[in-house]
Amino acid sequence: MLTKLKVKDKFNKELPADPDQNNTRRQVHKACFSYATPRIPTAPQLLHVSPEMAETLGLSAEDTASEAFLQVFSGQKVLEGTAPYAMCYGGHQFGHWAGQLGDGRAINLMEVEQGGKTWALQLKGAGETPYSRTADGLAVLRSSVREHLCSEAMYHLGVPTTRSLSLMLTGDQVLRDVMYDGNSAYEKGAVVCRTAPSFIRFGNFQIFTSRKDKETLKALTDFTIRHYFPSLEAGTKAGYIEFFRTVCARTMEMVLHWQRVGFVHGVMNTDNLSILGLTIDYGPYGWLEGYDPNWTPNTTDRQNRRYRYGQQPNVALWNLAQLGSALMPLIEEVQPLQEILDNCQQQFPNDYLQMMSQKLGLKNMNPVAHELITDLVQQLQLTETDMTIFFRTLSQLRTTTDLADDTQLEPLVLPAIYLPEEYTEELKEKWRSWLLRYQAQLQQEQSNDTQRQTSMNVVNPKYVLRNYMAQLAIDAANAGDYTIINELYELLKTPYADNPEQEKWFAKRPEWARHKVGCSMLSCSS
Ligand code: AMP
Ligand code: MG
Repeated sequence: MLTKLKVKDKFNKELPADPDQNNTRRQVHKACFSYATPRIPTAPQLLHVSPEMAETLGLSAEDTASEAFLQVFSGQKVLEGTAPYAMCYGGHQFGHWAGQLGDGRAINLMEVEQGGKTWALQLKGAGETPYSRTADGLAVLRSSVREHLCSEAMYHLGVPTTRSLSLMLTGDQVLRDVMYDGNSAYEKGAVVCRTAPSFIRFGNFQIFTSRKDKETLKALTDFTIRHYFPSLEAGTKAGYIEFFRTVCARTMEMVLHWQRVGFVHGVMNTDNLSILGLTIDYGPYGWLEGYDPNWTPNTTDRQNRRYRYGQQPNVALWNLAQLGSALMPLIEEVQPLQEILDNCQQQFPNDYLQMMSQKLGLKNMNPVAHELITDLVQQLQLTETDMTIFFRTLSQLRTTTDLADDTQLEPLVLPAIYLPEEYTEELKEKWRSWLLRYQAQLQQEQSNDTQRQTSMNVVNPKYVLRNYMAQLAIDAANAGDYTIINELYELLKTPYADNPEQEKWFAKRPEWARHKVGCSMLSCSS
């Protein structure tokens, strides 16, 4: 069954390994990884598989239902011919250099080749590694459901992301203090199998530079370029500069997608940024409900809101600057890197306007469109206005809609407004005025209503994994009911489609979820 997996390990074959094979916590020098064996779970149980991801790896439904699948992807058995390992990396956490971090609870099982692509398969929550520091190497069901569902949902939204193959219970109990307030409790342990072409992060490069280990830095950079940026040249200064340029472009493109769909990562530390520009490490992430650039789901970041929605592009640039510093020993010149960063910084506002004009179905980017976008962003913040519902509903506006008529205006605005008492006459007139200007611009462009609606509906999702939706799936799963996981998984496979049977998920967050832990407040405890 699993013999179908064409194992083709690269990272642990081509890069230097930690010679110490003991599973003791330590500082690891001059090595990209340490061998680590997954912990044997007490009673593994498969809760959910992504059939799309399985198929991508060449696995059928029969394969994923097999005993061998359960054993390998719960960590019970190591597939013959593979040598699991944990990566060594460092990182800046919340703006401060944190030294060695590494895969503290992720264990890479193997890399496989399928359909001309290569995939690294990695268990998250499979026990201690040399990088576990003071923690247990485990993950709870709550955070694993969130990672499994969201990574697949993001993929179907068209956002660059790591994927998830499977979600399993381990049968073990894990102690966690969810809100870091001294109330620890046991939760169900779980393991997710994540997949990506590679899990290399900015921090993998930073750790070697911080230790003045140019040799291993070069080995890792050349490896990355050779395998993941094959059109670039490894081993030359010009190649390293192009590599940095490409990583910058991909990272900013990823963040642009986040801004488009209203995704807030929550912990954009440099160890949580993929060198491939993929969304990685689904922790205390969240989705904008009310459009609020200052919002962050992460209570651990409540003071500074460093990782708030509106700040994500700037933080990405900050992180890229750290990556640039990490590559300095290979490039030995600041100026080309600074130029690339400056270009990114200048380019992003243009890309953002372009993206927003697509959300609005505007064909031409001119001063009027620019102003419409700027004003809309302000207007959306006047009162709690649901981002997803607003943009999706806006595609129903016609160039012939009579906006002077309240009964035609209100269906465009009211569904997105959270508190009816905030829908005042004054607010209504502000919306009327903005919508009239928007409509005039559409008329000016001779916009076709049907075509515009179609083009808007492929960039404005109807369904996203709202924070309370994930929590509903988690609460049910904790009680042994896994049907909501499957229901949401199926729903989020076609996030841009109108699905009349699923109208209940095209709705504002219910009021009970406003201040509920897990819905609006998340911590790094996972
Ligand atoms: P994060 O902020 O979740 O990306 O994690 C930062 C660092 O902490 C990484 O090195 C993780 O591997 C490590 N880590 C997080 N949770 C655990 C855990 N339960 N056990 C061991 N290491 C962990
Ligand atoms: Mg991480």
